[in-house]
Parts: sequence; structure tokens; C-alpha cells
Amino acid sequence: GTRLKGKVCVVTGVGSLIGIGRASAIQFAHEGAQHLYLMDLDGTNLPALKSTIAQKYPDVKVTVIQVDAADEAAISGVCKQALREEGRLDVFFANAGIATQLPLESSSAEVFMNTLRVNTLSCFLALKYASEAMMETNPSRGKEHSGGSIIMTASVAGIRAGAGSVDYSASKAAVNNMAQTGALQLTRTDVRVNSICPGLIHTGMTDTLFQSARRRNSESKIGQLNPLGRYALAQEIANVATFLASDQSSYVNGQNWAVDGGLSCS
Ligand code: NAD
Repeated sequence: GTRLKGKVCVVTGVGSLIGIGRASAIQFAHEGAQHLYLMDLDGTNLPALKSTIAQKYPDVKVTVIQVDAADEAAISGVCKQALREEGRLDVFFANAGIATQLPLESSSAEVFMNTLRVNTLSCFLALKYASEAMMETNPSRGKEHSGGSIIMTASVAGIRAGAGSVDYSASKAAVNNMAQTGALQLTRTDVRVNSICPGLIHTGMTDTLFQSARRRNSESKIGQLNPLGRYALAQEIANVATFLASDQSSYVNGQNWAVDGGLSCS
């Protein structure tokens, strides 16, 4: 594909082998991205991801960075690095996140603040520094081109109660609002901001649930209450992230896109 041809993209949270970030990074490469800056706190799988992409998509430049997505210097740094090396930044997919799944009685102020830091502050930093970089080099180029796309991974837990712990849900509700408020603050800059709200996806984050269901031979039961009758795979979120990253979504702005099989309206 060529949907991301020439685009310089940052993706955070790419380290998990079955995660949304990795699937998105590979699809961004498949769609012809020019340079991918791929970040994760856990460096274990980063070199292999880099060589996987290099082998399959030799024209795509890949830089992997082991870093905390809530580290201000790291996020402002990668945006500056993109400007320095490529002269532009087109896409920032702030996807890194954690879920504690702790019930209220075992939660704490410390847990709450850490979830807010990783899930919410990371998106704020992406919004602030990526929009700054995008505005510096991507002046409005007319209606068929977007000046930049900032995408945040929120959750259905951020749309309605019942899908996550208090800390997680609050952190994701804030991300959804930030995508909207951010879009308004960037009025007339041609930088778009949207969030994706996945339902239940089999990734590193939810793997324990799937493993234990598998042991009980009940894996297919997971997701039965979903209107589509099943859970999703990371690729199905990556497909939406790719669309939002591309100019095909040039008039999609300030939206919280539930990609949940219909769960949030059931
Ligand atoms: P995952 O655990 O497979 O991937 C998350 C990645 O983020 C991991 O590689 C992890 O190392 C990384 N990460 C964690 N903290 C980080 C930090 N501080 N800095 C940088 N990287 C960090 O899970 P996933 O499901 O692919 O998660 C991606 C996003 O999707 C998260 O924001 C998550 O909240 C969201 N989400 C997931 C589901 C689901 O059902 N899996 C549902 C809704 C939303």
C-alpha cells in the first residue's frame, strides 16, 4: 500500500509481541511510511521488530528507542529528532498504556497516579510536542492534505463505566477528552487529534485472561456478550490507526472512535 507514503511517524508502546503498537508499526511500514520512530519502555523485542520491518520493507527507515512514554524529555526529544533527521513529523500514535485491573479496595493513590502518568500524561506530552513539531514544518497544504495526525489509544473503559478499574477508566476518559479539547485548541493548524477506544483485544495486556480461559477450554466464550460475538485482535485496531494516520481521514478530527464490535452501544 501507499497510504502513508512519505510520512514520518512516531508510535509508542510497540514492544509487546501481540500488541496494538507493534501491529500498527508493521502496518504503517506496509503502507509506505518514510521513517518510523518506535518506542517502548521494555526494550526486549525492539531490535527484532526493527529487523522484521527492515527485512520486509527495506525502504522504510526504522529507529527504535527504549524509553518511558511519559518522560517529557524523551517525547519532546523524539519530535525534535524527527525534525532534525527528516525535516518533518506527520503522525504521532500515543499508544503505550498499562492496566492495573485493581479493584477499589486494593487500589491506592500511588496506583492511581502511576496509571494517570503512563496512560494520560503520555498522551498530553504527545499532544503538546507533536503538534508543536507538526506546525513548525507542515503549514496548511490545502484540503486534500492533513498537516499532521495525533492518535491516542483510549478505551471503551473511557467511554462508559464497567469495562475497567477506577484508575484505568479515569485515565482513559481523560484521554478521550484530551483528543477533543486538543483538536479544538489546534483549530486552523491542520493538525488533527483523535482517539481510538478499543473493546476487548487479545494483546499482552489481556493475555493472562486468555491463557486461563484456554486452560479451561473456554477461550471462545470470551467476547460472547459482544454484539459481534467475539473479541478482537490487535490488527483490527491497527487498521483504524492506519486510516487515522493517513490523509484518507483528513476531515476526521476530535473524535473518540470506539472500535469495540458495538460493545459501547449495547
Ligand atoms: P500490550 O501490553 O500488549 O502493549 C502495551 C505496550 O506498552 C507494552 O509493550 C508495554 O511495554 C508498553 N508500555 C507500558 N508502559 C509504558 C511506558 N510507560 N512507556 C512506554 N511504553 C510502555 O497492550 P495493548 O493492548 O497492545 O495496549 C496498547 C493500548 O491499548 C494501551 O493504551 C491500552 O490501554 C489500550 N487498550 C487495550 C485494550 C485491550 O483489550 N488489550 C482495550 C482497550 C484499550
